[in-house]
Amino acid sequence: MHVDMDAFFAAIEQRDHAEYRNKPVIVGGLSNRGVVSTASYEARQFGVFSAMSMAEARKRCPDGIFVSTNHHHYSDVSRQIFNIFADFAPSIEPLSLDEAFMDVSGMEKLVQDWREYALKLKKRVENEIGLVASVGIAPNKFLAKLASDLEKPNGLVIIQKENAKNLIKDLPIRSLWGVGKKTAVQLQALGFYTVGQIATAELGFLVQHFGNLAYRLLELANGRDDREVETDRLTQSIGNEITFDQDLLNRTQVEKELLALAEKVGWRLRTEGYAARTITIKIRFASFATITRSQTLLEATNFDEDIYRTAVKLYKKCAITEKIRLLGITGNQLSLNEQFNLFEEDAKKKSLYGTLDQLKGRFGEKIITKAKLLNSKD
Ligand SMILES: [Mg+2]
Repeated sequence: MHVDMDAFFAAIEQRDHAEYRNKPVIVGGLSNRGVVSTASYEARQFGVFSAMSMAEARKRCPDGIFVSTNHHHYSDVSRQIFNIFADFAPSIEPLSLDEAFMDVSGMEKLVQDWREYALKLKKRVENEIGLVASVGIAPNKFLAKLASDLEKPNGLVIIQKENAKNLIKDLPIRSLWGVGKKTAVQLQALGFYTVGQIATAELGFLVQHFGNLAYRLLELANGRDDREVETDRLTQSIGNEITFDQDLLNRTQVEKELLALAEKVGWRLRTEGYAARTITIKIRFASFATITRSQTLLEATNFDEDIYRTAVKLYKKCAITEKIRLLGITGNQLSLNEQFNLFEEDAKKKSLYGTLDQLKGRFGEKIITKAKLLNSKD
């Protein structure tokens, strides 16, 4: 079973603000160079979609309601939703804040009617959280994910093994898991446009052109997929990035932005209960060329200053001369917070950050910040 919330971030905003309902709501980075994370279905009618630049979204939907992403709040709602999911399946693999695979195999004795079972889950999410989920049920992950998407929003689709092949044969090749833009272009150049065309292709021919990917292509195109639901997969990384209104020129500016990012990432790590062993920075230049640099620490951390110090070190090593358009910091190799050692200094830091986080949790992320990050107008 695959469950996916409809227009999650935008739907939360519409739930929380009655005046946003039935209106085009666009959630994302609000600066002109920001990006849309979620558009409500009303906004999609204006041609606004996720990953579109905010500038383009404003052009297409000038009267839309533009809302800045409130990641902390959405994670809270996400936790509530996953608590409900947990009542419906013994193992759950989260894919993002609003999406999960649920392994319900072996529950046939308990569940007579899968449609009713899915409806029960949808109803609980709607009654208790006030949001709408789409559900797909199928013999495997690939088909389940496909199914949850087929009748979105408020979808519920069950795909049976017997009619899977027939159901997917006319879908575009991009529906196959792992087929990105590049592979799609290659496939089209060889005359493949639909899933069905791949399903009947010669394996040898596919291997010649796609190497190892050929086996997966053929399996998926025939509706087969033997990936397991991976229950204990932890969140892989937590990161933030920012695109600047004006490209950054000098080191002082860059260091200030890195500090702001470190503060954000540190806070998210702490509130989500993680510490990161590896810190990665991402730099995109005015030319759009992009580099990433990582450093693995002796011990996992979720303190702003550790993240900041590492990020600055990585940045200095790059010896950059070009203007910078985007900066990002990500914490990888996450472990659960309680695992790491508490030396005396760490205990002090921990209590400091505990206080900071309480303030932020109560009054919002902007209530307290580093003096260095304040503008004179603040
Ligand atoms: Mg979704």
